Amino acid sequence: MANSPVPVLTIDGPVASGKGTVARRVAEALGFHLLDSGAIYRAHAFACLRQNTNANDIKALEDTAKVLALEFLGDQVWIDGANATQEIRAEAVGLAASALSAIPDVRAALLQRQRDFAKAPGLVADGRDMGTVVFPDAALKIYLTTTAHERATRRALQVVASLGTTNSPKQLIEKGNSDTILGSLGLESPLRSADAVRAQVEAQIRQRDAQDKSRAIAPLRPAAGAIVIDNANHTPEQTVAGVLALWRLRR
Ligand code: C5P
Repeated sequence: MANSPVPVLTIDGPVASGKGTVARRVAEALGFHLLDSGAIYRAHAFACLRQNTNANDIKALEDTAKVLALEFLGDQVWIDGANATQEIRAEAVGLAASALSAIPDVRAALLQRQRDFAKAPGLVADGRDMGTVVFPDAALKIYLTTTAHERATRRALQVVASLGTTNSPKQLIEKGNSDTILGSLGLESPLRSADAVRAQVEAQIRQRDAQDKSRAIAPLRPAAGAIVIDNANHTPEQTVAGVLALWRLRR
């Protein structure tokens, strides 16, 4: 790929590694555009699920990727003129996105859409292959990660918080038996304890990690030259400050 016309900072990493939050805050601090590439793969999977596309019909999956009417309005994701911000975050959509994104024709059909986000004054790109494939010439590449156990705790809290309830996420997880919560997390059986919820989420995360890391095309791995940050013991603020300091050093 030719050099990006504008400065690009990539942040890759596995599910619930905190890269979404860090990428958003770094983009705000630098006044840069933000690409949430996972939302693009989720939107594609959501559209395929909604129209019942046969998962073996590569041509139909590719066509859906090409015509996907997708718009980012601030924090919102709109598909075909409807706000789908919440729907695309469901775990079932994440798993479908993980499966469909392993198909080379789907990735190829979504590639230019991602590169088009690189506009002045600059871009922070968040995903799995931002540094390896989409923006290989990025000025700074970060790979953010931590253990599956820690990520499962964060992911469970995140999904519950996104339901917009007045109960605290912690209280709801401790109840652990609400159908809405379980449905959003893609869990089936009633679970009575926070530990049981987290254990199932951790199993899902391990499955998605395995899918993303083992696929033949654009597997999840640190890009050449990427700086790997294990943020287990960092607050998001500390990680953001670290990434901004690295950016200043590089520029
Ligand atoms: O980051 P998020 O969990 O929203 O991404 C959903 C899925 O989309 C990932 O599990 C991954 O399989 C796929 N994805 C990808 N390449 C990206 C971003 C996401 O394959 N750059």
